Amino acid sequence: MSASYLELRGITKRFGGAAVLDGVDLSIREGELVTLLGPSGCGKSTLLRCIAGLTELDGGRIRLNEQEITDMSPRNREVGMVFQSYALFPNLTVAGNIEYGLRMRGIGAKERARRCEELLALIDLEPKRDDYPQQLSGGQQQRVALARSLAVQPKVLLLDEPLSALDAKIRRSLRTEIREIQKRMNMTTLFVTHDQEEALTMSDRICVMNEGRIVQDGTPETIYASPRTEFVARFIGSYN
Ligand code: ADP
Ligand code: MG
Repeated sequence: MSASYLELRGITKRFGGAAVLDGVDLSIREGELVTLLGPSGCGKSTLLRCIAGLTELDGGRIRLNEQEITDMSPRNREVGMVFQSYALFPNLTVAGNIEYGLRMRGIGAKERARRCEELLALIDLEPKRDDYPQQLSGGQQQRVALARSLAVQPKVLLLDEPLSALDAKIRRSLRTEIREIQKRMNMTTLFVTHDQEEALTMSDRICVMNEGRIVQDGTPETIYASPRTEFVARFIGSYN
């Protein structure tokens, strides 16, 4: 058994009186892609925001690569995040967007350009380097968002429904592309979706979430073949 790389213990978050996260435990190994699958409103985005440091916890601890990051500022966490709606800077070119985080970290122009070209090749968008986001398709914008978050070499990548706003056909090709990039880079990834097909095809492991708790954690095969509760069975579509 290998050690966990990202470890969440007893993560709790309340908004007003209601517990939106109710003691979430989750361990992810290095290079693993784990999908958090659950219905709208069950707390998926809140959990990612807690890991990224964008939302303060009410309880629990987070460790990344054997370092406690629970109280660290978002900048120091080495966590990359891609959101559902393309959050690119509209006034920066594709290259400008990809280089943004490197510029913020004071990395010189030559090194920035070198890494930017590597990432443009990775997402297969070299000819678009000088275009602006609004000149790109939704799928292309999400590939740029992915490259931008990878540019700073995060230890863990958080993907919050990155495909949900896209057409079905682009969604399918992009999920293959994301999985290939993730494997090639051995990038530890927590992928959030409410789409069971996406979860079943992309993941090393699936954690099914409901009402602020992880209700089942297992391989796609196990979750599909042996759902532990009726909720999981219905949600995964193996209930009949
Ligand atoms: P999901 O991503 O699974 O759809 P969210 O994490 O976005 O779910 O939201 C979980 C619950 O927390 C929802 O009921 C939502 O309304 C509530 N919530 C999320 N963010 C806030 C906030 N900033 N203030 C109050 N309630 C919030
Ligand atoms: Mg969400």
